[in-house]
Amino acid sequence: MLIMMKSNATPDEIQAVCRKIEAMGFRAHPIPGAMRTAIGITGNKGPVEAAAFEELPGVAECVPVSKPYKLVGREVKDEPTVIELGDGVRVGGPELAIIAGPCAVESREQAFAIAAAVKASGARLFRGGAFKPRTSPYSFQGLGEDGLKILSDVRSEFGLKIVTEAVDNETVSLVEAYADVIQIGARNMQNFSLLRRAGKAGKPILLKRGLSATLDEFLMAAEYILSEGNYDVILCERGVRTFADHTRNTLDLSVVPAVHRLSHLPIVVDPSHGTGRREKVAPLSRAAVAAGADGLIIEVHHHPDEALSDGYQSILPVQFDELMKEIRQIAAVVGRTA
Ligand code: PEP
Ligand code: MN
Repeated sequence: MLIMMKSNATPDEIQAVCRKIEAMGFRAHPIPGAMRTAIGITGNKGPVEAAAFEELPGVAECVPVSKPYKLVGREVKDEPTVIELGDGVRVGGPELAIIAGPCAVESREQAFAIAAAVKASGARLFRGGAFKPRTSPYSFQGLGEDGLKILSDVRSEFGLKIVTEAVDNETVSLVEAYADVIQIGARNMQNFSLLRRAGKAGKPILLKRGLSATLDEFLMAAEYILSEGNYDVILCERGVRTFADHTRNTLDLSVVPAVHRLSHLPIVVDPSHGTGRREKVAPLSRAAVAAGADGLIIEVHHHPDEALSDGYQSILPVQFDELMKEIRQIAAVVGRTA
């Protein structure tokens, strides 16, 4: 059930409703909207009695939730969530969030060279894994905390916000200390204890769609994070497994309007993992912006042939620069900027 507060409800009235929910042993999630605050309830096993709330000051109405998810859906909040990262960097607002950088942080020189280039082309966020989820245990696993320190230096040197992955519960606290946005990878989309831990993190989460996840499974994974009190979740379409063998994955751009219809959360598109082929990154990036994506996350490497991971899908800085120019034009057509 959702408790919709009146548009003129005071903070005290909202708090009183939350206290009542918590006194019943449940968790209250006040979600402010443009017009009014909705309060979601989680932790209840059966239906919650509406009568207990309807007479409280400031309450407009109690509405049952018709979807399996309570907090990520449009029922609780009809306007898009805009995630504030500081210094005017936002995800979900009119300006597209452009995240660019290598698959993995390999060295200070590598990270700085790529950061300088993507910053000059207009990216506001830098990506790079310090902990890498690799198919083979013998592949490069990332630099670990040394990589996080390099990322933190990239932030101070270039003013870029840092997006980097946490692969397990043990390292979330470490990643949280260094990152501006914590990435949860496709293979971990249904790692429910990691999702719950991400829900307790003090940083926004970029949640990648699982390799074979339906839209409902994707949204329910996000629900795990919100249900623990972290409402700053960025969804990321990164391609799903199909029979197609001309690409690494099939980038499902139709999920962008589908997410926007059902959820207030922003969704960005990863055309690098989504295609796995350098020459397909630009066309699918353009298409993603045209389809209404809230941003892009793109792998860029200055020496892709020497990259320790995902070189074949990393574009060169000069290609990224060209792409940014194209994206700016397409963004204007769909009422966005980049
Ligand atoms: C990555 O971003 O480098 C990555 C490993 O992504 P995914 O989890 O989507 O495979
Ligand atoms: Mn990668």
